[in-house]
Amino acid sequence: MQKEIMVQVKEPFAGEFRKGYPLVAKEAVADQELLKIEGQVMKLTDVHGRFIAKAYYGEQNKGLGWVLTRDEEEIIDQAFFERKLATSFERRADFFEDTETTAFRVFHGEGDGIGGLTIDYYDGFYLLSWYSAGIYAFKKMIVAALKNTAEFKGVYEKKRFDTKGQYMEDDDFVTGERGEFPIIVKENSMNFAVYLNDGAMTGIFLDQREVRRQIRDHYAYEKTVLNTFSYTGAFSVAAALGGAMKTTSVDLAKRSSAKTIEQFSVNALDYENQEIRVMDVFNYFDYAKKNELKFDMVILDPPSFARSKKYTFSAAKDYTKLMKDAIAITSNKGMIVASTNNGSFGMKKFKEMIDKAFQEHGKRYMIVEEYRLPRDFHINRMFKEGDYLKVLFIRLK
Ligand code: SAH
Repeated sequence: MQKEIMVQVKEPFAGEFRKGYPLVAKEAVADQELLKIEGQVMKLTDVHGRFIAKAYYGEQNKGLGWVLTRDEEEIIDQAFFERKLATSFERRADFFEDTETTAFRVFHGEGDGIGGLTIDYYDGFYLLSWYSAGIYAFKKMIVAALKNTAEFKGVYEKKRFDTKGQYMEDDDFVTGERGEFPIIVKENSMNFAVYLNDGAMTGIFLDQREVRRQIRDHYAYEKTVLNTFSYTGAFSVAAALGGAMKTTSVDLAKRSSAKTIEQFSVNALDYENQEIRVMDVFNYFDYAKKNELKFDMVILDPPSFARSKKYTFSAAKDYTKLMKDAIAITSNKGMIVASTNNGSFGMKKFKEMIDKAFQEHGKRYMIVEEYRLPRDFHINRMFKEGDYLKVLFIRLK
């Protein structure tokens, strides 16, 4: 390992780190020229040279690295990572016991004490996601720590640290045995086909587990359901299993159709009774309005940013408009499930954007349920952006 380098932190930031703020932002560091080797351990000090914390240098869109410990004596070695993993596994002991759910997050970045690293469990396999070359520099130690903490069939990884923070195409296998994909994981007894060796995404977003269950158990029965930005159709599957009259899944990615058929099929649902459309959601809204289609439930779970041929969408700017489109095709007393994974704004602003859409429509509504990240996505209370997921179940009046 490289030796630790002293890095001075500017004044207002020092206090934040002392309270537990985990991200080393670009603005916090006085002399960025010092930082040359990704993965190097930085000893952060205040302007008087007093120790604040140890962090690692790893450039990510979010900053220059993450705090690892506020204990000056603590050494960043394999034992350090083993202690972190032991705590995070302990926190999820009940998830490992639950036979109806076999996919969940076991390590959630800064929430579990190491920003830039997440670990997900998929029925005997672990998936490591690295968000910077800096954290990737600790790979050997972290994989060894995982071996000493958990039993597994195999380990895969996603490298998400090219210059744009995007996924880097790779074989993705790390150690253990290779899986035969898809593997079928369970989530509250629903089945999902998962691929750990096939691009950036696995087929399911684990953070929506509670929302899927709620749709299945309480809202879908005998309803017509429109699932927009549907990806592999996970919400449609939940709705169909909950007895929906019909689901319509809309996503513009060509692969989404085969992927959605697969998710229906592994749940013994006949996909021919469902509608799957490969098209731009915004074109679909126009089509639905023209044909006076109405749905009992509309699910909105867009990416934070999206660019298609005709439209760009940014959740922070355009959610009101998206919501207005949804309101226009939701039946009286129908339900809209509005979700965003954008951490740059909070629940208050999200509710304001939604309220504005109803104001402009002159319609009344009631928020009947709110969801945030589930407990396995353990958050750091000092780091608001990490608490990104916001989901509202909205009843039209
Ligand atoms: N709701 C999904 C996850 C959505 S991921 C789930 O719960 O699993 C975002 C998806 O939006 C991607 O599959 C992407 O192809 C799709 N997408 C982005 N822009 C779109 C657009 N304008 N129209 C339709 N789909 C879009």
